Amino acid sequence: MTAWMLWTKPRRGVAFMLAVEVLAVALSAWIIAAQPVTQRDLINFAAITIIGVVATETSRQVERMRRRLAGTPHVNLTSVWTLSAALLTSPSLAVATVVLLYGHMWFRMWRRITGRHPYRVVFSASMVVLSCLAARGVADLAPTGDILDDITAVGLAWLVLVILVYSLVNSGLVALAMILNRDDTSIVQLLGTWQENSIEYATLCIGALTAVLLAWRPWLVALIFMPLYVLHRSVLIRQLEHAATTDQKTGLLNATSWQTLATNELQRAHSNGTECAVLMVDLDHFKRVNDQHGHLAGDDVLRAVADAMREEVRDYDLCGRFGGEEFVVLMPEIELTAAIETAARICARVRDLRIENTTTGQPLEGLRLSASIGVATYPDAGKELDEILLAADNAMFAAKDSGRDQVRAVAVSRAPERRSPSPAE
Ligand code: GH3
Ligand code: MG
Ligand code: MG
Repeated sequence: MTAWMLWTKPRRGVAFMLAVEVLAVALSAWIIAAQPVTQRDLINFAAITIIGVVATETSRQVERMRRRLAGTPHVNLTSVWTLSAALLTSPSLAVATVVLLYGHMWFRMWRRITGRHPYRVVFSASMVVLSCLAARGVADLAPTGDILDDITAVGLAWLVLVILVYSLVNSGLVALAMILNRDDTSIVQLLGTWQENSIEYATLCIGALTAVLLAWRPWLVALIFMPLYVLHRSVLIRQLEHAATTDQKTGLLNATSWQTLATNELQRAHSNGTECAVLMVDLDHFKRVNDQHGHLAGDDVLRAVADAMREEVRDYDLCGRFGGEEFVVLMPEIELTAAIETAARICARVRDLRIENTTTGQPLEGLRLSASIGVATYPDAGKELDEILLAADNAMFAAKDSGRDQVRAVAVSRAPERRSPSPAE
């Protein structure tokens, strides 16, 4: 039973997940008993399931890699087949399609991936069953009768409505599960990023098109495979790109990608004749935080500092994690005074940060946080990124020498060798 990991979740989260599963099973049982299945439904069901399995098999490598990289609950390309089953077969066979396709994916891909527990697959499949049934319920209400019979303007609008309902039920349930299982879910995690949502809707549009093609010209479904494969790969490429450029612990840019983007910004400043600033932020006595509260609390502090920094700067400023407890910010089109003000705000935010003990939910006792920040600007401190970083680093050490928890903008006598960015621990 422990392998299922379900019981480590908060009780309300477990109750919600079980309720979704029970509802999915109960509705399915009722529909199986109440709704007849025609021969045409059976043929469509067989066609969709076979195509779905073949499509899953052809994209197995891509999907495995994608699942390993990150859990992206909002993106699931199987909805191409589950939505077309909801539109084209009887509701009971749509449920069977979900069960078969999810069972197949679990058996062939997910079970080998650590962290992909069976309870999550059962819960995902239950959510998809409910989405399919809701979508089908809306489709059956269409004023034009069967919306796939004759695609008029009203039929098209109804098809869009069906897609919306499918997606809203699914993402609504995912968001509720997140809220109930975790206390610190951000709004972006709840609603999904713009990119995740666009992929979700692209997938559902392909699902609706598949249903239309299967109803009218089944052989043309062959044309769906290529765009679907390319869409799938584009999701993987986006995830790889994210993993390669982001610091996993804090979600900020990693040192390498920060340097690349910062160099581009400097070139832009050079061409446009504008100024820009670099902030070097180093947490004070961070070793003590680890020693007194443990490494995990230290990691929570790093995340909280990163979030605070992101909130204090503008959207287009570049925040990066440079090393263990060192952060850098590049701020385009800004003068020294404004950059110092931003640095002072970051300093104050770090000072006021309260970190909770994850087990007790209480603020960590005796935790005193502060940061020393060095500021340097282009072109005053230098023309090249290395020169500006060196100046900001020197200014940061000057802040340390003057008692920490402050901002300094000028280099003073103590000038350590420029340290090259070290990969985050
Ligand atoms: P100073 O005020 O002079 O900067 O002192 P400090 O203790 O912050 O500096 P020092 O460089 O001596 O120690 C940095 C510490 O940061 C040591 C290391 O254990 C910790 N650290 C580095 N990366 C991580 C991380 O990813 N997580 C955690 N929890 N600690 C980290
Ligand atoms: Mg340091
Ligand atoms: Mg430090």
